[in-house]
Amino acid sequence: MSEIGLYVENAPKQLFIGGKWLDADSGEVDDVVNPATGKVITQVARGGAIDAEKAIEAAQAAFPVWAALPVDERAKILRKAADLITEKADELATIMTVEQGKPLAQAKGEVLGGAESVRWHAEEIRRIYGETIPGPNGHLFLVQKEPLGVVAAITPWNFPSSMITRKISPALAGGNAIVLKPSPETPLSATALMKIFQEAGIPDGTVNLVMGDAPAIGKVLTSSNLVRKITFTGSTAVGKMLFGQSAETLKKVSLELGGHAPFIVFDDAPVDKVVGDLVSSKFRNNGQVCTSPNRIFVQEAILDEFTEKLIAAVKKVKVGNGLEEGVNAGPLIREDAIGKIQRQINDAVEKGAVLATGGKRLTDGAFAHGNFYAPTVLTGVTTKMDIFYQETFGPVLPVIVFKDTDEVIRMANDTDYGLASYFYTLDLKRIAEVSQGLQYGMVGVNSNTVAFTQTPFGGVKHSGFGRENGHQGIDDYVNVKFINLNYGI
Ligand code: NAP
Repeated sequence: MSEIGLYVENAPKQLFIGGKWLDADSGEVDDVVNPATGKVITQVARGGAIDAEKAIEAAQAAFPVWAALPVDERAKILRKAADLITEKADELATIMTVEQGKPLAQAKGEVLGGAESVRWHAEEIRRIYGETIPGPNGHLFLVQKEPLGVVAAITPWNFPSSMITRKISPALAGGNAIVLKPSPETPLSATALMKIFQEAGIPDGTVNLVMGDAPAIGKVLTSSNLVRKITFTGSTAVGKMLFGQSAETLKKVSLELGGHAPFIVFDDAPVDKVVGDLVSSKFRNNGQVCTSPNRIFVQEAILDEFTEKLIAAVKKVKVGNGLEEGVNAGPLIREDAIGKIQRQINDAVEKGAVLATGGKRLTDGAFAHGNFYAPTVLTGVTTKMDIFYQETFGPVLPVIVFKDTDEVIRMANDTDYGLASYFYTLDLKRIAEVSQGLQYGMVGVNSNTVAFTQTPFGGVKHSGFGRENGHQGIDDYVNVKFINLNYGI
């Protein structure tokens, strides 16, 4: 068997509940498909409501055990898990590329970033500080942070490893037990991580995994009183639904939802550097990223130079199977993703945009059975076009011209979303004005990166609420308790 076959073979295919690997109660399975080849690579258990209930019970039983472990013990287990992820990075990355499509180097970067997140949270366990507040004589006012109990995490396919580690790590650091529902597109990255936590010695039931029938599992997780928090990363539509479903049990909710990031280039910005940043950021995971630059605003004085250089750079992006050397952009996750992109492009062109490069599905030769799409630049994009308002989850760069700062801030904020934003200028006054004017949870100033383990990640408006990463992220996984200690009696 090839090394790749062996890696896929090694990844568990069952549900992980109470420290045991189990088939679904129904006995059903789902296919896992490689989006680069269209081939079924394996099958995994397809869980449902009964399995979700079992997982919640297992987590509820494990919660007091995990919460009572000394902080050092919990930190040690997390550090061990981080080390194992690092050791197995090649294996985990290969599994990810085969089930998700992204180039191997990007997959490995994601896996190692996830290990770093687990390690960082292992350290942060020691810094979940409380407070004392001045009170009347004879009283101590104490504030302490306590675990929530059972946390349910629902994750998407675009970052099948790091979306899990960035939820599991703060939840475990906070002393909680977890039920995870990963995406059916990328189950092997999730089961492989569960196996690692098991090998790291986490007490049975502290982490559990149920995949399969999303609406049925989601209903059980949101309506259970034992689940005290839902943490979700995915589309705005599903996030709103889960929020509504959680209302009856008044649980905490964190929602990391869609984005439609503006990327603003002022006329004093260094064009070559900005084009480089834009292309590397846009083609990371082939544009299937919630923080991906989606609307490219270019100031009129540099429009021609910028567009010309952008088109030349985009033409050099190498599309292909993520396992091949030198590939920058893999396939899209599913066939319907191509349909959505094509509709947006057709609408824009009908309304006057110019297709400068790309704009079509790739189907020749090695592309024949995968979901490949040509890297695309659209110029002359306006607010009349769907692409201006709809999240694009793919390799399309719509270029919009603007005149001045006020106009571009107004256009950048003209969206329901508010996750990531970026702008490039060397003018200090403008830097201050624009960073304050953008209604977004994150702003990259002369930088295309807003995600770091130590900084708060999250959005505003319809991009959701709650933060992940940073000490702010852990706050979302604990309750604050106030104790009025009367020692004067
Ligand atoms: P999605 O369709 O919302 O799915 C996300 C997860 O929710 C999957 O595990 C999915 O399972 C599950 N789900 C769907 N319906 C459900 C239900 N009724 N009950 C419970 N779970 C349900 O999103 P996606 O297409 O996988 O991911 C892309 C979206 O995620 C984009 O909008 C992107 O912007 C967003 N995203 C946001 C962030 C962020 O941090 N803000 C990061 C990454 C991605 P099934 O597939 O089985 O339905």
